Amino acid sequence: MSKSISELTQIIVDFAEKRGWKNENPSHLLNAIYIELAELGEHYQWKNDFSKYETISEDEKTEIGFEFVDVIFYLFRLAHNSEINIEEYFDKKLPKLEEKYKVGTDYGKAHREYRESGKNKRYE
Ligand SMILES: [Mg+2]
Repeated sequence: MSKSISELTQIIVDFAEKRGWKNENPSHLLNAIYIELAELGEHYQWKNDFSKYETISEDEKTEIGFEFVDVIFYLFRLAHNSEINIEEYFDKKLPKLEEKYKVGTDYGKAHREYRESGKNKRYE
């Protein structure tokens, strides 16, 4: 059964509230996100491309999936506590990304220009 981001957020918020987890400040939640990202990153460390994932066992896929969920747990709680509706901002951001990264653009060229410029234009 698929769930929307808002539904997942509510499940996560309810989960935390039932356990009395309400004293985390933004730094706590951000640190938890970083830690869970590091745990996720361990599974990808030293792997060069996705074709190698054909060798990943079902058990490791499960572990990777659980790490993604761990990241989402903290990320969605941080967004909720910050009164950020991710769905709303996703809908606002997607058209901007579509405009910025047009289909059919030579991104290899754009990447070279970015590296040669020394500027962080991609994130401005
Ligand atoms: Mg974890």
